[in-house]
Order: sequence, then C-alpha cells, then structure tokens
Amino acid sequence: MRNVSFYDTKPYDREYMLAAEGAAGLGWTFHEFRLTAGTASTAAGSEAVCAFVNDRLDRACLRSLGALGVRHVALRCAGTNQVDLAAASEAGIAVTRVPAYSPHAVAEHGVALLLTLNRRIHRAFNRVREFNFSLAGLVGFDLHGKTVGIVGTGKIGRCAAQIFRGFGCRVMACDIAPDAAWALASGVELASMAEVLERADVVSLHVPLTRETHHLLDAAAFARMKPGAFLVNTSRGKLVDTRALLAALKEGRLGGVALDVYEEEEGIFFEDHSQHGLRDDDLARLLSFPNVLVTSHQAFLTREALSEIARVTVSNLAGGGPGGWLPGTLVGGSAA
Ligand code: NAD
Repeated sequence: MRNVSFYDTKPYDREYMLAAEGAAGLGWTFHEFRLTAGTASTAAGSEAVCAFVNDRLDRACLRSLGALGVRHVALRCAGTNQVDLAAASEAGIAVTRVPAYSPHAVAEHGVALLLTLNRRIHRAFNRVREFNFSLAGLVGFDLHGKTVGIVGTGKIGRCAAQIFRGFGCRVMACDIAPDAAWALASGVELASMAEVLERADVVSLHVPLTRETHHLLDAAAFARMKPGAFLVNTSRGKLVDTRALLAALKEGRLGGVALDVYEEEEGIFFEDHSQHGLRDDDLARLLSFPNVLVTSHQAFLTREALSEIARVTVSNLAGGGPGGWLPGTLVGGSAA
C-alpha cells in the first residue's frame, strides 16, 4: 500500500478521491490544515503528499518532505506556482499535476460572475427576499455587441472565447504563443496585450502565474483600460496588483471587477472567517465596493471537474511507484 498524506482536505475532496480510488491501493491520511514548512512533519510515513492551490511547497517544506522520505508531490490542480520545482528536484521529489480537468467549469464560472455583476443578480436576489421589488440601481448592459479581451488562449481562455462568441460579442485575444489557425476558425481577433486593454469592454484573465505574469495588471495596465471596463480574474490572484486595482476602483475608472482569486487568498479562501472578521484590509476594502464581486476560488467546483481531478490524481499516485516517474520531473498525468 502506498501511503498518501492529503492536505487542505474539504469534504468534497475526500468523497471524490475515495470514489475514484478503485483498486489503486492507496492509504490516505486526510489533513484539514494546509501543507507548509511548519506542517510538513505530518507527512512522516507517507511516500506521497497530495496538495492544492494554497498549500505552500517552498524550499524549506520540500527539504523536510525529502528528509522524511516523501518522493512524490501529487498536485490536485493545474497550476504549479505554489511549488518550488527546482527545490523539489534537489530533494529527489517528483511533482505531478492535473493539467486539464474541466476548462468549461472555470470559463463558465467567469461568465457567471460577469453576468451576476453586470445584471446585479446578487443585489436583486437579496432585494426580492425582503419583498423589495424595486429596480432602481439594477441597470446593466447587453453583452451582445461588446468587445471582450481574452488574455491567455489556452484551454480555459478558448472556452471563455467560445462562450462570449455565443453571446454575440466581438472577441479579441492575446497570448505569448498566439494560434492564428484557432483564432481564425473561432472568429477571434488576435491582438497585443496593450490593444486588448485599450479596446476591450471586458478583460478576462486566463494566463498562469509566472514571473512574467506577476502583476500583469498593474497601475499602468489599469490606466490603459477603457473607462468603465469590467475585469474578470478566475486565474491567479497575483496576476493583479491589488493596491493598483483599489486605486482604479476608488477613482471610479472600472465598471466592475469579478474575482474568483485574490492576491493574498492563502489562509483566507476556503475557510470560514465569519466569527472573527477579516484581518486582510485590502480584501475588506475590495469587498466594500458595490461593483466588486468575489468568490472564494470556486471556479473549478463542478461535479465533472472534481471527478476528473480525482481520477487523474489517483492515476498519478498509483503510477508513482519505482520507475513510474523520474524524480524532479513534472509529469502531466493521464489527462487524455
Ligand atoms: P493553459 O496552460 O491551457 O493556458 C495558458 C495560456 O496562457 C497558454 O496559451 C500560454 O501560452 C498563455 N500564456 C502564458 N504566459 C503568458 C504571458 N506572459 N502572456 C500571455 N499569454 C501567456 O492553462 P489553462 O488550463 O487555460 O489555465 C489557465 C490558468 O487558470 C491556470 O494556470 C490556473 O492558474 C487558472 N485556473 C484557475 C482555476 C480556478 O478554480 N479559479 C482552475 C483551474 C485553473
């Protein structure tokens, strides 16, 4: 039996992982706390750890895991920005991930956030529950005919582009590796990031977090955006400089901001803070704007995505025996 220490466990993780396990022969230890250098010692006796987006696998954490005999980090997500891959390699630890589970889940959530914010559905819902049937302050705009800028035309960006085309939007897109054939076939106009910012009524972020994309939307980028434009970020919080975003919001330069991710979400998202209040002043300020809508990194949370995450993670873990992977190699997993 291969022992796996599982971190940041939520009830749905346990349910879907156990359902996917089959005959994989994995011995799970589910921890509700996150994996960090401070908690790494709890992986003693496990060959593998299973981590999510807000676990912090920095050099200190990976060194501790390596010293305990952990040989495999199985990420149950697509992004790898929370792992120091060079340090994993040095510690003789292989890293696997789930490169694609349901790009539709994430793209659809981004569109849901945009529609909710634009058409004030969240406000209307609260109003009618109090028998307030007034429409004052609920005016939105037609998405049809608007220009949407997709930043990053990978799996999720392409799904988002297709949905917006379905709405009758003009779709512009930028990517470091632009795919002209896809753009032509999809009715999408390829452009530079600057053009997207200057011309789009809605900017939707779909790039991974890397050194290059950290604070991709900074003060200069917000200054370039069309007055009254909407921003949707379902990708990673650190793509956006929160202080610059707050400044743009205070100056009334943005029409709306829909966020499923937040720069400092680690330790906040996925948890209930309703009893002691928020200690993060920037997040509290963001939540105070009527034209900001935040969800707690839930874009992936569909039955289809959870099943696929569990299936690929179990397969990655089951294939992680001697010879099944190379230490330090990021293996994609059987996502086909
Ligand atoms: P992907 O790898 O299929 O696509 C990413 C695209 O970004 C690629 O086309 C790449 O060329 C492009 N890109 C990379 N760096 C760029 C840059 N500097 N400028 C412009 N383009 C750049 O990834 P995906 O599956 O579409 O996922 C995108 C991101 O969504 C993930 O990295 C992850 O951070 C995020 N995500 C969020 C959730 C959630 O629940 N909120 C779930 C899954 C993924």
